[in-house]
Amino acid sequence: MTYVQFKNITKHYGSEVALSNFSLEIASGELVSILGPSGCGKTTALRILAGFIEPTDGSLLVNGQEILELPAAKRGYGMVFQSYSLFPNMTTFENIEFPLKLRKTDATARIKRVNELLDLINMAEHANKFPHQLSGGQQQRIALARALALEPPILLLDEPLSALDATVRDQLRDEIRSLQKRLGITTVFVTHDQQEAMAISDRVAVMRSGQVEQVGSPKELYQNPRNSFVAKFVGTSNQIESIRIGQAWKVLGSTVSGPEGFDTGIAFIRPEDITITASPGGVAVIEEISFLGSFTRVFISIDKNRVIADLQISEADKFSVGQQVELTIRDANPLIEAMGI
Ligand code: ADP
Ligand code: MG
Repeated sequence: MTYVQFKNITKHYGSEVALSNFSLEIASGELVSILGPSGCGKTTALRILAGFIEPTDGSLLVNGQEILELPAAKRGYGMVFQSYSLFPNMTTFENIEFPLKLRKTDATARIKRVNELLDLINMAEHANKFPHQLSGGQQQRIALARALALEPPILLLDEPLSALDATVRDQLRDEIRSLQKRLGITTVFVTHDQQEAMAISDRVAVMRSGQVEQVGSPKELYQNPRNSFVAKFVGTSNQIESIRIGQAWKVLGSTVSGPEGFDTGIAFIRPEDITITASPGGVAVIEEISFLGSFTRVFISIDKNRVIADLQISEADKFSVGQQVELTIRDANPLIEAMGI
């Protein structure tokens, strides 16, 4: 059931358009990521939901009620930012306790709730430390606990992992997801990192220039990107010149289905959808074979293009640099866009 609904939200800053008819629906208990390059309007959308920014136009419903008139404090959503933003002169315990004190929760209930939250984020043993005595990952866990203290109906996370180094980032990402599922809390997660968005989300909204380009599960976006922007932003794609012959399209050595209305195009093909077969005299030549652990990436030149194919290690072992090969594709219905758009 739809819980949050952005309806044609527009936000102007002077002549700058930060959001333009931004629409997005989020179901109760769902984690939706807003993914897009820097400056595309992600933070603006999140802060409008939080109540920190008023949109120029549009409507915002939560649980079926228009909330744009409601001040941020009345909405009461939990928020975590990229910077840890803890109070430096307060301990872990006091930081988490702070919103409960503001709310004038009585001392017994307060202590019980903070202890619950400390257990939830596995930080009980650090309750009396100050932020400067803790790692970035630990500080961000405390910021999360503080955001959850008042049991908000919605949790808003604005690039909460961007300041952390890679190992901690992956670990905390998984912790946030498991916590979010356990609590069943409706969550909006803003990020510019596609891998992060794919790993953590029920659905991802890919944004460009103030608008949503496509919304879908990570798998839907990866397998059926609506356009080249999404295809390039989510995962890796080969861009291969293709021509239409009658009703079908010729992409490398394969015939596939594709759009009508134009005769030359660019097909977007995932590296794992390329198949290599040995073909003495073939026009494709293996240039480089790169072992990447769980798979092997093969670089192939064909005409003036360079194509990458990701193979199982045992499959890649059959080939060597300099070998002439033929390429076919596994995707029977790839994205093909007209040349030059
Ligand atoms: P993102 O979070 O995706 O990086 P933002 O939502 O922060 O993007 O910004 C979207 C656009 O709006 C950017 O072009 C940014 O420069 C502009 N913008 C954001 N906040 C302001 C502001 N307070 N005043 C003027 N322009 C702003
Ligand atoms: Mg931002």
